[in-house]
Amino acid sequence: MGVRVFMEKKLVVPGDFIGTEEEYLAGHGTFAEKERIYATIAGEPLDTERKLSVQQKRSLRALQIGTVVIGTIENIVEPIALVSIKAGSDGRESRFGENPDYSVLHASMIKRGYVKNVRDEYRIGDIIRAKIADVRNGELRLATDADELGAIKAFCPKCRHPMKLESAILKCESCDWKDNRKIAKDYRKAEIDRKG
Ligand SMILES: [Zn+2]
Repeated sequence: MGVRVFMEKKLVVPGDFIGTEEEYLAGHGTFAEKERIYATIAGEPLDTERKLSVQQKRSLRALQIGTVVIGTIENIVEPIALVSIKAGSDGRESRFGENPDYSVLHASMIKRGYVKNVRDEYRIGDIIRAKIADVRNGELRLATDADELGAIKAFCPKCRHPMKLESAILKCESCDWKDNRKIAKDYRKAEIDRKG
């Protein structure tokens, strides 16, 4: 496996310019025209000893609908959240750690029942457990509409401190800000257990 090519795009689609023949040889998944190298498949551009290739995303192919993953809410563009997948549900990062792009979580897939806006349930930085609901056109779509799915760690939107579960509401450990989340049933399990 080669070194990831330094470029703005971590993922390319067919026709994307990825390098010049002055610098590189054209390898698998590319073609060269007038000394310019373009991608012929969608994937990640790689530089293997100055040979450019495009590697189809293994992680995407391996992902199965229903697989449970851990991810971070990276951005919210209503009505969707963009989620980076950090690990499989077993916490092993190797399988998903290099997945460079975002998965999509639509507000309607957050929980059972109507959710208008992602921000009603999640905030940027929250760590969620989600399942893969669909893989379509190279895009991963997530869902958190089950008891064991949802935020497993949430952060205060005011001061970024972690939030603790108090009764059914999340409360900031630092500034006492209270907030709502779609939480996984084992959110801060130790504390839930203590409450009995
Ligand atoms: Zn706070």
